[in-house]
Amino acid sequence: MIIQLQQNISTTNKELLHKKLQELKVKAADIVTQNNQYIIGILSKEIDVRVIGEIEGVQDVFRVNDSYKLVSSKWKVDYTTIDLGDGVTIGGNNFALMAGPCSIENEQQIESVVACLKKNHVKIMRGGVYKPRSSPYAFRGLGIEGLKMFYNICKANGIKIITEVMQVSQIDEMVDFIDIFQVGARNTQNFNLLDALGKVDKPVMIKRGISGSIDELLQSAEYVFAAGNEKILLCERGIRTFENAYRNTFDINAIPILKEKSHLPVIADPSHGIGIRKHVSKIALASRIAGADGVIVEIHDEPEKAFSDGAQTLSFNEFELLVQQFKLLEQPMNILN
Ligand code: PEP
Ligand code: MN
Repeated sequence: MIIQLQQNISTTNKELLHKKLQELKVKAADIVTQNNQYIIGILSKEIDVRVIGEIEGVQDVFRVNDSYKLVSSKWKVDYTTIDLGDGVTIGGNNFALMAGPCSIENEQQIESVVACLKKNHVKIMRGGVYKPRSSPYAFRGLGIEGLKMFYNICKANGIKIITEVMQVSQIDEMVDFIDIFQVGARNTQNFNLLDALGKVDKPVMIKRGISGSIDELLQSAEYVFAAGNEKILLCERGIRTFENAYRNTFDINAIPILKEKSHLPVIADPSHGIGIRKHVSKIALASRIAGADGVIVEIHDEPEKAFSDGAQTLSFNEFELLVQQFKLLEQPMNILN
């Protein structure tokens, strides 16, 4: 059960509410986010929710029996939109394209990607400075100095940044230089990290775990929300299955299912989803048709020379073609909706 409170609920009424919940044997958790207050109630038996709804300061009461609640569409009918400022929003009717290299490598590379994004009117650049790599000997990113260089160039060009945070201690040093924190597939269930990201006033995109279920992804999102941050994006990036003809099995089904289960925007990552450059654009377009609110793709001026994930990275020409294809899809999308 979600009890949505009025912002100005008095301490006396909140205490009264807690007392009532105790009487009804409802286990209660207070949730205070940047804009709202809620109480999550775990019921031990069915109750008449009207006795709670009647208490002054209670805005609404919703029955949500799923393991995730605040991220569920069962209580919030409107889709969440994420506002990055300067007119850049994700969700609702704003399809978002995010593109950039797997790893930030040097100034020249950032500048060339920024120029490509600007040419194609793309407002959000991706690029890792902390890279989770399967081998400890692979390139692991330029770290905070790389992020500052990334930030300075993007700031000067009006481009927003999404980049991965791998551990709690990196949040504070990164927060002023990013627009969206990315939680990588290997960290989807790093609950300490999710809790800590609930305390920051920046959006968080959570990728689906390598072998993670849809419910587990939603519960990870619930961690961030319950810790105080409502600005969350969900990302399908493929999962590990028995199939080894491609890098991961991109689960296109997850897109409409996530959109049905949650009010949060859903982003598709076809680059990691299939892992094969020549097929990335097809999966990107399919994701849009399946209802994704945005797509994040890896691009590079010379994909063959990329420090990481070159095999799934689009060249600028390939990306430009994809942008045009997305435009051509707008008209048929109106028929599908
Ligand atoms: C990435 O975005 O480069 C990345 C490492 O992604 P994932 O966590 O999905 O593997
Ligand atoms: Mn990558």
